Amino acid sequence: KPSSSINEAPDIFEEVSEGLDRCGHPLLAPIHFAKQITLDEKIGIGGYGCVYRGKWHDEVIAVKIFSSTDEPSWVREVYIYETLGLNHENILRYIAADNIDISNRIERWIATEYHENGSVYDYLTDHTITVPTMIKMMFSIASGLCHLHRPIDAARGKVALAHRDLKTKNILVKKDLTCCIADLGLAVKEKRPNRNTEEKPTVIDIVANHRAGTIRYMSPEILNKTLNDQSFESYKAADIYALGLVFWEILRRCQTTADVNDADPYQLPYENILPNNPSFEQMHGIVYIKKLRPPSSARWTNNSTFCYVFDCCQELWLEDPACRPSSYRVQKQLREQYQSIEINYLNTRIESQIEGAQTV
Ligand code: ADP
Ligand code: MG
Ligand code: MG
Repeated sequence: KPSSSINEAPDIFEEVSEGLDRCGHPLLAPIHFAKQITLDEKIGIGGYGCVYRGKWHDEVIAVKIFSSTDEPSWVREVYIYETLGLNHENILRYIAADNIDISNRIERWIATEYHENGSVYDYLTDHTITVPTMIKMMFSIASGLCHLHRPIDAARGKVALAHRDLKTKNILVKKDLTCCIADLGLAVKEKRPNRNTEEKPTVIDIVANHRAGTIRYMSPEILNKTLNDQSFESYKAADIYALGLVFWEILRRCQTTADVNDADPYQLPYENILPNNPSFEQMHGIVYIKKLRPPSSARWTNNSTFCYVFDCCQELWLEDPACRPSSYRVQKQLREQYQSIEINYLNTRIESQIEGAQTV
């Protein structure tokens, strides 16, 4: 009797017609990963393809199908997931990739873990959040970004990466409302100089890609074309600018207290002053020439956590890239903030329990 683990293993081999092996068994070839998946509903449209919810044996997964014109993003994203040791709870979990020939057209797929809450953008448009959730979300995003930015161990292959398209639509919300960073199709990796030299790290573009990030999230130095594209530090700093905008979007949707829903309506950054799909020139005018940034909200001013978070946003989107904090520092500060909030919440809960007990 075969062991149950074999019975339960997905049937990923198919018989190929060409004959038998030397022992007389039919030749087995792996079935295309794509053929093992059934696609259900379309759950997202990105700039360059569609994302579906699908089923792979018993697991619900997400499948991103790239448009035929965006091969570079597929190559880059697969390369990053498969070779760069990106296992981290705040980076979207990769499952597999495939390309299939459909009547002379190649369709390129990437399968990842599925998150039913969708992107941070999807979530914030439909939900408001409380202070502990806000800090938890921000901390998890900073942790994911810190993992991307940090070279850990060249021997194991984790080099430093910069995302280059960080925005609320490219960050997903997990069941416990922590987040994970997705859409690595534009990332670049750091090239470390040999030890014992004074050289600065430079940048490796994984495959040539004419695409740039999303205009709305472009930093002043991208908009005025002074970003040094040979310096890895510059790409990290541009990610940090975008992180500031992401934090601001989250901050607006946070209620001041858990029982009063006074959150600001959802807004994209600069939505109050710029139309949909702003042009590069419009963005340059607002962010670089006029030096505008997303505004504060009246209700934030007498709340210390809100002030703290808005101050943090302002530091992240500073004009001078060299003055912005690193993702590591942001993560560290948010961890402290989260711990103190947790303690406060715990204390108020204990106090109210004591009060409750006294009134009984
Ligand atoms: P693109 O590279 O085309 O922008 P993304 O990877 O950003 O594609 O995905 C587009 C959208 O699809 C996201 O904004 C999100 O709404 C949805 N999406 C992507 N991956 C997942 C996933 N794993 N689980 C749930 N929704 C997802
Ligand atoms: Mg995207
Ligand atoms: Mg993309």
